[in-house]
Amino acid sequence: MKIKAAVLRRPGGKLNIETLELARPREGELLVRIHSCGICHTDEMERQSPWRTPIVLGHEACGTVEEAVGCPDFMPGDKVALSYASCGECSECVAGRPYACRIYRQLMDGMRPGGYTPLSACGEPVIPFFCQGGFAEFSVVSRRSAVKIDPDMDMTLAGPFGCGIQTGAGTVLNCFAPLAGQGILITGVGTVGLSAVMAAKIAGCYPIIAADRFPARLELAESLGASHCVSGPDLAAQIKSISSGLDFALDTSADDDLRRIALKALGLRGKGASLGFGSLPAFDDEDREAEKSWDGDIVEGRVVPQSFIPYLIGLWKDGRFPVEKLITAFPLGEINEAFRANSEGRAVKPVIVM
Ligand SMILES: [Zn+2]
Ligand SMILES: [Zn+2]
Repeated sequence: MKIKAAVLRRPGGKLNIETLELARPREGELLVRIHSCGICHTDEMERQSPWRTPIVLGHEACGTVEEAVGCPDFMPGDKVALSYASCGECSECVAGRPYACRIYRQLMDGMRPGGYTPLSACGEPVIPFFCQGGFAEFSVVSRRSAVKIDPDMDMTLAGPFGCGIQTGAGTVLNCFAPLAGQGILITGVGTVGLSAVMAAKIAGCYPIIAADRFPARLELAESLGASHCVSGPDLAAQIKSISSGLDFALDTSADDDLRRIALKALGLRGKGASLGFGSLPAFDDEDREAEKSWDGDIVEGRVVPQSFIPYLIGLWKDGRFPVEKLITAFPLGEINEAFRANSEGRAVKPVIVM
């Protein structure tokens, strides 16, 4: 079938709305009519240096199932959020850890086993990023990427649960698993950091300290549950005045200085984690004596999307996970403006509505 999609043809270039050919779903795949798709930091990185072109970016889509081939759990008409892909056959997938799938990288690059891609332009293969390619009217995805969601869910909000939101919330709730009353620092409050703030509030953390170089984002962090917000040149001293030693620190900024400050803010046996890119913070004797730890390799919050996303959407319905405060909608025709708004920090989570 013919579909419209935003196609990247050269590194750092604009996305062009083109007509592509999309093949029918194969066994175990779904044809999904995309309603909307969020822009994630990884999409911007891939736009700047794609591993291959032409490529359709987008890996935070949601939509409606139109056709299900060999997928007994799905029916046409089901509302789905799309998340990362996993093979379902490697030892990690079989053990229930799809986020650690041994071919995660290959699938993220949009290469299904066997190198097949359902997308093409005049016979030339087109890569769907994350085997999803969400900036398009339709996508053919593995059923393992799809999560059935509440039919009442607002389909302009559901997409980002599949990456940025589950990554921030999952790191707090699954990896840290804080007890009520434990303290947490979150450095960098974009979508992932703000989702971590909301999750920390749900877990009953105190204090919840948000740190960022953009003061506007800190107002948002406060409205979502941060008990303290810090910014400016003397961050370390400000944090020290709130807590002499925190239980958890999550850095989403990829900023080495902030990461170092976050490590220092931890107390005895404090646990830190960083998402995104950049190096691990260097431990000194004091950090080692305090038995601090730091995890620099958390993928997708280590969540199983099929259970975690419906849980978060339930919290959203209860008004306890107000993701609508993060989201700015753009029509597909304004996708390049949406990418600019994302990289300039004017929109926390731009969502493209097809
Ligand atoms: Zn696997
Ligand atoms: Zn992402």
